[in-house]
Amino acid sequence: MIMAPVPWGRATEWPGRRCPRPFAKQKIKTMNKTNLAPGWVLGFAVMLWVVLAAGQSLLAAEGLQWFRGQLHAHTYWSDGRGFPEQAIDAYKQRGYDFLCISDHNRFADNTNAWYTVTTNKEARLSPAIFDSYVLAFGKDWVESKTNGPVTSARLKTYAELKAKFEDSGHFILMPGVELTQKLNGLGVHLNYINLPVVVPCIKGAGTIKTITVEKTTSELLALNTAEVKQAASELQKPYILMLNHPFWVYYDIVPQNLIDCPEIRFFEICNGGSSRAPNPQARTYTVDKFWDIVNAFRSLRGQPLLYGVGSDDAHFYDAKRIDGENGVGDAWVMVHAAALTPEQLIAAMHRGDFYASSGVLLEEAAFTPADNTLRVTVKAEPGVNYRIHFITTKRGFDQTMTEIVSPAKKSLATRTIPLYSDDIGRTVKTVAGTHATYRLEADDLYVRAHVESDSRSRIAPYFHPKFKMAWTQPYTAQDASSEKAIDAEPK
Ligand SMILES: [Zn+2]
Ligand SMILES: [Zn+2]
Repeated sequence: MIMAPVPWGRATEWPGRRCPRPFAKQKIKTMNKTNLAPGWVLGFAVMLWVVLAAGQSLLAAEGLQWFRGQLHAHTYWSDGRGFPEQAIDAYKQRGYDFLCISDHNRFADNTNAWYTVTTNKEARLSPAIFDSYVLAFGKDWVESKTNGPVTSARLKTYAELKAKFEDSGHFILMPGVELTQKLNGLGVHLNYINLPVVVPCIKGAGTIKTITVEKTTSELLALNTAEVKQAASELQKPYILMLNHPFWVYYDIVPQNLIDCPEIRFFEICNGGSSRAPNPQARTYTVDKFWDIVNAFRSLRGQPLLYGVGSDDAHFYDAKRIDGENGVGDAWVMVHAAALTPEQLIAAMHRGDFYASSGVLLEEAAFTPADNTLRVTVKAEPGVNYRIHFITTKRGFDQTMTEIVSPAKKSLATRTIPLYSDDIGRTVKTVAGTHATYRLEADDLYVRAHVESDSRSRIAPYFHPKFKMAWTQPYTAQDASSEKAIDAEPK
């Protein structure tokens, strides 16, 4: 947890050399010289080699910007409690650059979908929400009809929403769906992003597709992955496929599932809506630990590493609930991309050039393959203290796994909770302050950084961190895994 406060900006091991950019600029200056002496030529060649060897990330860093995005939100198209316009407006107003509305098993393309205003206790669309909708977007935009005492409003399609809200270079929408299944009592939810279709395995299903067959979770994930990949191939679009909230409802996804399905490259390290209490017998089994287990075994197998996403899983947008649990602003991603387009954002995420945040922002989260070093610089807020932890798993780690069985309760099926050794996901260096670096050691399978602050999170239900944080992605030596994965993506 947080140690005694330290002055921020405290000296770190690289004083005065926090960012690799000046190095790249120096190269440009040298190249402008036309009267190079022979000695300089050799020097220049060596320096150019060093700069090139420093990896794409140094050179590509020029011109990249950080874009803030939300990849998981719900509306009246499924079980959200707001019109899509209210969701989009909430994110746009809060300075987000991109948003993916990911309703359960539905894509918003039906031009004749109507939602009824009700006054009963469970009302999802109450007269108050309807009135605020009309007030915010105007009678010219809202389409409603009245049949006796019943009023309904037409849900706008993705195409209509895109035309109304997108603002080139400032705010974009990405299409998405939350593939929502219940397999023998276990919740299996994945978001696929940038594909404006419903894949076959959930076509025609309600907001949850219940499956009761002799199929394992890994087999279902493999089927989901294949269908999403096929859809992307037919549409010729890049995409993100992410496993959502692995601990919801109650440890429903185990690390082995993602070890078995290396084509799933993303998962939610932080989900604003996971509100189940942890099992007291498994206190060390956190979402961070889950991540390290998957990556320790993927590293050994030479498979692409799993990247972590922060998301709200937002359902509420009305004034009373927007700042509460399942509201807006708990967790998000910051993507380091060349432009605000789905293609550039997705390419950046596939190369691991993004981080997850639940409130801490970073100026820099960069891994340079030339020196196998991860550099992290916090965008510090006045009065807030930070600690930067570097986490690795070393080659030769103890692979032993033991299991705890949690018996079925009410609607929840029996869970088997896997516990792994402390060798996996060990913190190998901690720096109090706003800048730190870690150079991979020969036996490190990967390194990632986790930045904690002493500023409290707005909400903290169980697996949601109590303090605002940021998580960089894990990186391996030469980062071979992500290069392979980019090649494997459909164009
Ligand atoms: Zn879900
Ligand atoms: Zn969701």
